[in-house]
Amino acid sequence: MITANNVADAIRKKAPEYLAESWDNVGLQIGSFDQPVKKVLLTLDVTNEVVDEAVAGGFDMIVSHHPFLFQGLKTINTDDYKGKLVEKLVKNGICVYSAHTNLDKANLGLNDYIAGKFDLDERAPLKPDKDEQLYKIVVYVPTDYTEKILKVLGDGGAGFTGDRYSHCSFRVTGEGRFKPLDGSNPFIGTPGEVVKVNEDRIETIVDGRILKDLFPALKEAHPYEDMAYDLYPVEQADIMKKSGLGKIGTLEKEMEPEEFIEFTKKALNIKHLRTAGEPPESVKKVALCTGSGAEFIGLSKVKGADVYVTGDLKYHDAQRARENGMWVIDAGHFGTEKQVVNLLEEMIRGRFGDGEIETRVSDKNEDFFKNY
Ligand SMILES: [Zn+2]
Repeated sequence: MITANNVADAIRKKAPEYLAESWDNVGLQIGSFDQPVKKVLLTLDVTNEVVDEAVAGGFDMIVSHHPFLFQGLKTINTDDYKGKLVEKLVKNGICVYSAHTNLDKANLGLNDYIAGKFDLDERAPLKPDKDEQLYKIVVYVPTDYTEKILKVLGDGGAGFTGDRYSHCSFRVTGEGRFKPLDGSNPFIGTPGEVVKVNEDRIETIVDGRILKDLFPALKEAHPYEDMAYDLYPVEQADIMKKSGLGKIGTLEKEMEPEEFIEFTKKALNIKHLRTAGEPPESVKKVALCTGSGAEFIGLSKVKGADVYVTGDLKYHDAQRARENGMWVIDAGHFGTEKQVVNLLEEMIRGRFGDGEIETRVSDKNEDFFKNY
């Protein structure tokens, strides 16, 4: 039986919730993590139309990019839009899970997915996450316990490099020595005598943000009264950081601005876009940020991008683009994010075997803007 938590896990593996911005509200929005799930509906926004689609199609779960509950709910008044939706979801046993800025910022998250549509090479976060701090963790353990400790480390998210490999580690076997003192209750040896133990030195890498969960589990699994370990911060230049907002990378071949406009429409599968600022002679380096990215116009310029593709620009953002000499393409909030449903579907399908779970992209989710 697959639960809502299993589905959430498929997404968390690639886009851990700790990546979310502090103002965000990601995770379970409605329902229970223990709820059995057979059918998942994927959407950018949870609207009345999407909820009706879920009810009609017998879905147990909706996974959205934009959090269903965002600004905080003071009352659940079933006379208003949101209250009615809450009631409808609960009555029909549909749970809602949202992956928002954690999905935007993950190395292989939404910005990377869209960068892939542009075939960008040498991708890096446009604004690397300031909270990303890696540690080298070294654990010394009697060799009989090595596999147990490796499992706790790996399952707990350590040794997760570049998002394409998990459970990475290195170990060497050697001799550990210690002398238990009076008052100790040693796992091996007797107080007052030096003990030699065959130990493995296990080392791996861990994101500092998971230490608070990993550490207690590790201590629990380690046989010694005082776990023997070292923890070293790893020096990381911004260029080595993998998570962050937006992406920057280079096109396979240089393009004329007009050609790039058509290329963008194809990459994003949209019919309309607008531009601001003077186009460059040619486009090679592309910065992008899905959703609302007006704040990174200056950063794109500083990082040497020839164009910045984002959504939700206001009139004075366009003015700023022109004043900064940055060519900006506003492809719309929906335009830059609508393919999130395909990414979410890939993440879920990649986790479960055929026939284990049914997923569908909502066909009721649409742009709140209409272009004519
Ligand atoms: Zn958005």
